[in-house]
Amino acid sequence: MKMQKIVVIGAGVGGLTTAALLAKAGFEVTVLEAHVYSGGCAGTFYHQGYHFDAGATLAGGFQPGGPHHIVGELLNLTWPVRRAEPAWVVQLPDARIIRWGLDAAWRAERAEKLPQMRHFWRQQEYVADRVWNFSARVPAWPPANLTDWARLFSKVRLPMVPTAPLALASFGQWLEFNHITDRQSRTFIDAQLLISAQVTAAQANALYGAIAMDLPRAGAHHVQGGIGNLAKTLARGLREQGGELLFRQQVTCVVPQPGGGYLVRTNKGLEMRADGVVANLTPWALASLLGEHAPAALRQELDKREEPWGAFTLYAGVDADAVRGDCDHYQVVMDYDKPLGEANSVFISLSDPEDTSRAPAGQRTLTMSTHTHLRSWWELQRRYPEAFAARAKPTARPFCVQRNRCCRTCGRASAL
Ligand SMILES: Cc1cc2nc3c(=O)[nH]c(=O)nc-3n(C[C@H](O)[C@H](O)[C@H](O)COP(=O)(O)OP(=O)(O)OC[C@H]3O[C@@H](n4cnc5c(N)ncnc54)[C@H](O)[C@@H]3O)c2cc1C
Repeated sequence: MKMQKIVVIGAGVGGLTTAALLAKAGFEVTVLEAHVYSGGCAGTFYHQGYHFDAGATLAGGFQPGGPHHIVGELLNLTWPVRRAEPAWVVQLPDARIIRWGLDAAWRAERAEKLPQMRHFWRQQEYVADRVWNFSARVPAWPPANLTDWARLFSKVRLPMVPTAPLALASFGQWLEFNHITDRQSRTFIDAQLLISAQVTAAQANALYGAIAMDLPRAGAHHVQGGIGNLAKTLARGLREQGGELLFRQQVTCVVPQPGGGYLVRTNKGLEMRADGVVANLTPWALASLLGEHAPAALRQELDKREEPWGAFTLYAGVDADAVRGDCDHYQVVMDYDKPLGEANSVFISLSDPEDTSRAPAGQRTLTMSTHTHLRSWWELQRRYPEAFAARAKPTARPFCVQRNRCCRTCGRASAL
C-alpha cells in the first residue's frame, strides 16, 4: 500500500491515540498541537513546584478490554497508573456516598445509603458488563455507511440482545421504569452523569449511562506524575511508530485541494499537504478552520447542537496534613433545589498521596472544577479583553485561578 500522509490536529488523548494507531497502520503521520505540551483537557501543567492536572484528574479504561488496555496492547505501552480505591465520594446535602470499586464494599454502601435503588444496580451492572464486552470488540462508531452497520451487527452477541431496547431510551426513562423518582437518588445519578457524560439522566443514553456509572467498578486510576503522562505515553508510542508531534503549531486553516487532499496552515507559517486530516476538535473549531469549505452537513450539525458546557477550574497547592481523608476525589452537591453546575456541583481532586513528584514535600495539588455556561464568559472577555490578557500570566504565588479550556466548545487553552 502507498503510504499516505495524514495530519492530526490536536495532541489531546484522542488525537494522539488516533495518530499512533494510524502510524502503526503504516500512514505517515504528523500531529500539530497549538499548545506547548500535550494532553489538552487531560494535560498536566507545571507551576512553581506543582504539577497541576488542567482538567481531567481520574482515568479509566485500563481493565482488560477497556479502551486504554486495547491501545496499550496494540502499541506495546505501559500506562503509569495506580488504581484509586475508593474511586470518589459523592457528598449530597444530606448524605455521603462512597463510590467503592470493590464489589463487596459497593454492595454494602448502596444497600445502606441508597436502599430505594437496590434492584436497579443489578440491572446497571448486567447492562454495563455487556456494553464493555461489546465495545471491546471495537465496532466502528458512529457507523458511517452500510458496511459499518453490517460490521456493527456482526459484533452483537446473544447476551447483548436483552439490553437492546435501552439503546433507544434515556437513563432517566430507565430510572422511571424502575420507579426511582426520589430526589436523593436522582441527584446522585445526575451529578455523576454530568461529570462523565456531560449531561444528566434526562439526556444521557441509557447504554452509555450504564458504563458511565460503572467507572468505579471498572477501575478509576491516578496517573503517576499527573494525568498528562497518559498523553506523554501516547506521544512516545507515536514516535516509536515513526510519527511526529510538533508543538506551538496552531492550525489556522484547512483548505481542500482541487486534485484531492488538503493544505494545512499554522500560525507559525508552516504549510503541509496531506491526503487526510483528522481534526480532533470540536465541530465549531473544525467549521472555523474550514471556513467557506465547511460542508453543509457540518453546518447543519452546528445549528442543531445545544450550547455545550464549559468548565471553571481552580488550582491550589495544599498542606498534605490538612487534607488527610479516606479518599482523593470528591463530588459535592450543595443544594437539591438548584440546577447542577455553576458551583452547585463541584469535583475536587487531590493528587495521589503516594506520588511525591506532584508537589513540594508535605504538599499535594488540588484541582476543583464546576460546569459553567460559556456565553457569559465570552461576553466578559469581549467586554474586557485587556483584563483577560493581563491575567494570562501566572501569578507569583503558588496558587492560581484559571478558566479552563472547555472540552466541547473551543479546544483552545485560555487562561483568565
Ligand atoms: C475540568 C474537566 C475535568 C474533566 N475530568 C475528567 C476526568 O476526571 N476523567 C476523564 O476521563 N475525563 C475528564 N474530562 C474530560 C476529558 O478531559 C476530555 O474528554 C478529553 O481530555 C478530551 O480529549 P481530546 O483529545 O478529545 O480533546 P482535548 O483534550 O480538548 O484536546 C484538543 C487538543 O487540540 C489542541 N488544539 C485545539 N485547536 C487547535 C488548533 N487549531 N491547532 C492545533 N491544536 C489545536 C488543544 O490545544 C488540545 O491540546 C474532564 C474535562 C474537563 C474540562
